[in-house]
Amino acid sequence: VYILAVETSCDETSVAIVRDGKEILANIVSSQVETHQLYGGVVPEVASRQHVEMITLIIEEAFAKSGVRPGQLSAVAVTHGPGLIGALLVGVVAAKSLACALELPLIGVHHIAGHIYANELVHKLEYPFMTLVVSGGHTELVYVESEGVFRIIGQTRDDAAGEAYDKVARALKLPYPGGPHIDRLAHEAKEAVPLPRAWLEPDSYDFSFSGLKSAVLSALNTAAMKGQPLAPEAVARGFQESVTDVLVEKALRAVEAYGAKQLLLAGGVAANKGLRAALEARCARAGVPLLAPPLSLCTDNAAMIAAAAFLKYRRGQFSPMDLKAESSLKLEAWSVSS
Ligand code: ATP
Ligand code: MG
Ligand code: FE
Repeated sequence: VYILAVETSCDETSVAIVRDGKEILANIVSSQVETHQLYGGVVPEVASRQHVEMITLIIEEAFAKSGVRPGQLSAVAVTHGPGLIGALLVGVVAAKSLACALELPLIGVHHIAGHIYANELVHKLEYPFMTLVVSGGHTELVYVESEGVFRIIGQTRDDAAGEAYDKVARALKLPYPGGPHIDRLAHEAKEAVPLPRAWLEPDSYDFSFSGLKSAVLSALNTAAMKGQPLAPEAVARGFQESVTDVLVEKALRAVEAYGAKQLLLAGGVAANKGLRAALEARCARAGVPLLAPPLSLCTDNAAMIAAAAFLKYRRGQFSPMDLKAESSLKLEAWSVSS
């Protein structure tokens, strides 16, 4: 089974061809980071236009790289939500055109289901598992009871983890996207600026990062006004420790409460070295198997979309040809049907 998948939900134009939901034959990712860096963040209209310019080229490159011919494909998959509506539309139109021309089934995929099932490209999953989803737009604990059946047990009440990273990075005058820069600075730091942790109610699996972001801004301002500016490394380390403590603690508590067999890490912030190290240490102590994708499969890519699409392909659950792009598509609603 050869699935061609298209991902254009944000600022990466990506096309992959994956065999049997597991073997990546091509996973071409064209990032627009350099363009958006000029503005300090993703500009939706600019993103859509760049997807339009790139998508045909990237599709051709995926065929060339994989050596797969169009006639060999079994299905066309595409991220149809959530994400920037104009950006999603470009991928959806491209995928529909391909599916139509090649008379292939179409499979709409939820972007976060893709981030979660990126793990299946490299690991053996055991159900039920718990997933800590940490990305640019999402911070969620997702309980996956059986294959493709999702239940969100906790989520952020304000900023996503990646969003907080990017905002704090901006305050530290680091380039966009700031996550990797803060990660690097945090490792160089000899000390940490003390910052609060948002635990919320004792039994809650929800998260909140906007208070932490404000605390960083106010610490920076206060120190600057005193004429003793804080070292960016110390701020980065304090911030990273605060985020990581809460994520690790709640994820491990959720694993235990739900009797999950594994803890999966997913989304762009899963590339964070501090978070990975803290989770590894905690999981090792608790005897919980921790799975995370390699760095290249943590951030947006189409191979993860093909992996999620494969769940529906095997069940013959295809999308109608009038599949819509939905900017706030719900994960639970995308679950496979029994
Ligand atoms: P979503 O998946 O929620 O729609 P997105 O697709 O924009 O959002 P991803 O591509 O999954 O987000 O992740 C991008 C985010 O990951 C950015 O906020 C970026 O700063 C963050 N990120 C990437 N690498 C690291 C890192 N090493 N440490 C912390 N954050 C990181
Ligand atoms: Mg991106
Ligand atoms: Fe993403």
